Amino acid sequence: EPSQTTAASGQTTRQDTATSTKPAIEIIGMHKWYGDFHVLRDINLTVGDGERIVIAGPSGSGKSTLIRCVNRLEEHQEGQIIVNGVELTADLKRIDEVRREVGMVFQHFNLFPHLTILQNLTLAPIWVRGTPKAAAEATAMHYLERVKIPEQANKFPGQLSGGQQQRVAIARSLCMQPRIMLFDEPTSALDPEMVKEVLDVMISLAEEGMTMICVTHEMGFARQVADRVIFMDQGQIIEQNEPEQFFSNPQHERTKLFLSQIL
Ligand code: ADP
Ligand code: MG
Repeated sequence: EPSQTTAASGQTTRQDTATSTKPAIEIIGMHKWYGDFHVLRDINLTVGDGERIVIAGPSGSGKSTLIRCVNRLEEHQEGQIIVNGVELTADLKRIDEVRREVGMVFQHFNLFPHLTILQNLTLAPIWVRGTPKAAAEATAMHYLERVKIPEQANKFPGQLSGGQQQRVAIARSLCMQPRIMLFDEPTSALDPEMVKEVLDVMISLAEEGMTMICVTHEMGFARQVADRVIFMDQGQIIEQNEPEQFFSNPQHERTKLFLSQIL
């Protein structure tokens, strides 16, 4: 069953015994078009509870579109997407139910520049979830400590480095207590010296059992935390495997070519 939120605390309680056997995400025969352009073709993907998936593939292969379909920032036209047992349809009430369970972190952090870090973290919990301000701030400080920048709480985004801003963006998602985290190339806009601090946060989330889909070209990260690497090209899943096999023994020419270019 979907989780329940108690208005008083804003805390999410979960009926884990009921949900643990259900996949977190199930995509069946899914297609998407942008106008005439067939961008996703017959996508089939099941992500178990606590599973960590890395999606790799050339630019334009549909990676962003796929994960944006999972929290319905984009609509698919054929097939099914089922998130925490709820099928994504045009029924808006259910979409909200799903979105609150799915956090998303983008390449560009999309923080509000005129709000402090603390305000960025408490905005949605207060206004979307109805969490009392003090409780929202306590949760925000908890996650700022998790991403190791509690001392930045009262600064503005422009005063932080790119790596710090991306850690704020991750903390902001965690404040909504999602069950699933989607990452879309979270380190690709960062200066090289800031990549590790963001990957370290993602690794610790993975180690704690968060269900994650990460679009990334950080193959070291994929080797370390992924249960499965999915390779996409031209809107299709070309192959998938556990990381050791994926890297040492790619099956398809397109995968071999891609790996030869990035490794
Ligand atoms: P990736 O994340 O793998 O680089 P995208 O999912 O962003 O790929 O894009 C897949 C394809 O869809 C690309 O050819 C891109 O140009 C196209 N595309 C992406 N967004 C739109 C859109 N809103 N309208 C039309 N075409 C789009
Ligand atoms: Mg993309």
